Amino acid sequence: MTSRVCEASPPSIVDALPVTALQGVGPRLAERLHRLGIHSIEDVLLHLPLRYQDRTRITPIAQLRPGEEAQVEAEVLSSEISSRGRRVLLCHLRDASGNNLLLRFFHFSPAQQQWLGQPGTRLRCFGEVRQGYGSLEMIHPECHRQDADAPPAADRLTPFYPATAGLQQFTLRGLVEQALAQLDQTGLLPELLPDTLRARLRLPTIGAALRVLHQPSADISLAELESGRHPARQRLAFEELLAHQLSLRQLRQQVQRQRAPALAEHGGLSQRFLERLPFALTAAQQRVLAEIGSDLARPRPMLRLLQGDVGSGKTVVAAAAALRAVETGAQAALMAPTELLAEQHHRNLRDWLGELGVEVAWLTGRLTGKARRSLLERLAAGDIQVVVGTHALFQETVSFAALALVIVDEQHRFGVHQRLALREKGRGDWGCPHQLIMTATPIPRTLAMSAYADLDTSIIDELPPGRQPVKTVAVPDARRDEIIERIRAACRAGRQAYWVCPLIEESEALQCQAATVAAAQLAERLPELRIGLVHGRLAAAAKEAVMATFKAGDLDLLVATTVIEVGVDVANASLMIIENAERLGLAQLHQLRGRVGRGAAASSCVLLYRPPLSAVAHTRLAALRECHDGFEIARRDLELRGPGEVLGTRQTGVRTLRVADLLRDQDLLNAARYAADHLLRAAPERVEPLIRRWIGVSARYGEV
Ligand code: ADP
Ligand code: MG
Repeated sequence: MTSRVCEASPPSIVDALPVTALQGVGPRLAERLHRLGIHSIEDVLLHLPLRYQDRTRITPIAQLRPGEEAQVEAEVLSSEISSRGRRVLLCHLRDASGNNLLLRFFHFSPAQQQWLGQPGTRLRCFGEVRQGYGSLEMIHPECHRQDADAPPAADRLTPFYPATAGLQQFTLRGLVEQALAQLDQTGLLPELLPDTLRARLRLPTIGAALRVLHQPSADISLAELESGRHPARQRLAFEELLAHQLSLRQLRQQVQRQRAPALAEHGGLSQRFLERLPFALTAAQQRVLAEIGSDLARPRPMLRLLQGDVGSGKTVVAAAAALRAVETGAQAALMAPTELLAEQHHRNLRDWLGELGVEVAWLTGRLTGKARRSLLERLAAGDIQVVVGTHALFQETVSFAALALVIVDEQHRFGVHQRLALREKGRGDWGCPHQLIMTATPIPRTLAMSAYADLDTSIIDELPPGRQPVKTVAVPDARRDEIIERIRAACRAGRQAYWVCPLIEESEALQCQAATVAAAQLAERLPELRIGLVHGRLAAAAKEAVMATFKAGDLDLLVATTVIEVGVDVANASLMIIENAERLGLAQLHQLRGRVGRGAAASSCVLLYRPPLSAVAHTRLAALRECHDGFEIARRDLELRGPGEVLGTRQTGVRTLRVADLLRDQDLLNAARYAADHLLRAAPERVEPLIRRWIGVSARYGEV
């Protein structure tokens, strides 16, 4: 089918005009604008107001209501400086309605004092109305003297832009005005959406949308405008989401044009591995393994995100996938976010795969000198088939004989960029290695679609049989003694427990100190227990030794900082205490809780908090008590914190969206995905300009 959707002639690709092309923008102002991400004139126009003020109307003082912003026109009756305590300039006004209004100024210049101090001066003031003692007040209103030649009231709503130190609102307004004037005259910001698409979605043109947003007429609903639901704003949000979809789609296409080793199933190894396991894979594990298997068999690089709740058994799946590489005579690498986890993975894989004659190595930072050189040589020669490590695996000095599969555990700790670096790393004669990315922090669907649109997704939506939900309670700190008794009872019954001291201070040193103090106090209260301590300041070897002892059952209680957050697996541990739980995010609490409930025993998690709880903290702890499904928790987390924080904008490389909001604009995101497919087919010449407009050239994922 050939569809003609581009009624307008394709936009010319004009190179972006630098912001310095606007009048009055010198190097200093340009530098301040850069801080806001404004480099070109286009950027000025896409820098949208945060809110607006209605200065089109003059409100009689008699009609003012506390809490509202309003503009009045009135005459100075008298003014004085009150010097009880702080010096305050008080100015009494009266307007034609006959009512009084009091202005309060805490900072004022002698000149201001002078003209505000002349009875009879006519003023126009804009500010928030407050209820004072006797009359209504405004604190620090914006005031202008109303001379005979004063300008009339504004005929449009007044925009307020995100600003930065040394950059005034009126400067931004002036620049926007200049840029809007150029919109008509030059080819600035041409319309890139096909008319049919705009018509179907009932969206205005980009020019019309920008005019409404920067200079809204007085009759527009402020509420609609500020809520982001006005069609003008939706139009821009849609275009931005579309640009992101296109960019991810392109990235994906680039990858799929590359070759990868086709890892056909040879049966032997992975089959034997599964037969030897002491348990059968769950149906969900089998399904995702089949999905991975069919990707690996193709001569195109796999890019698959494996999502599975904590404890759902992702490691076994990773091991089976690694064996597919080994069977074909190639290598696999498993990358973990911390040394602690790398060590644990290494031990698991060595136990599972060693028996099958597979050489599994751990490249740790501790390995130095000759031992390290030897390991690197064996890796380069292909004598090591599976290697585990942190991101150090992908340093310059590490090379592989035949790397066919890269597995990244707990992806949310790594950025999109690191992911891409990995992709490059293993590129050999046969092409690019396959990539499997595993995450225990389920990513809500909408976010997955935008942050990981370049990946296919597999989901383990089932826990191994026999797991019982972790009973979760929130307990105020005052009942600590009771909790200590619970630890005593659990350990007496042969179980093990964690006591986690999360970040209270930003500093790691203080965090470790808090854990050290807690461990000492617990040791005093529980003298019969064997208590261990791990925190980020311990040397890797010491950390591992403690973890190994705990895992072997030779410690009863492990006091830890959040270093144990991810992935640590000790099935006999059935009690988890989290101090200062009110300070942690939902996803993190869920991760921590996931350290227990890994065996068949009933487990519990105690969230210790310091009252009073804020409303958000209360909602969070309640959500955790009620809810055990990681996906549902992630959804609520998104609602509570917003997408930037859930994904950790910087970590994931998901650029902060300028206009769109993934929560509010979910419907638009769906439309944008659909439109992206359509545009790639029907108007491919618009793809580049759209990406360039919203994402820029240098910032493109694929090129960083
Ligand atoms: P996660 O998905 O959080 O990384 P792990 O891979 O660490 O989970 O698995 C958690 C625990 O469950 C491990 O001890 C693992 O051996 C065990 N396990 C994994 N799959 C199964 C299964 N199908 N049946 C029983 N236990 C399983
Ligand atoms: Mg894991």
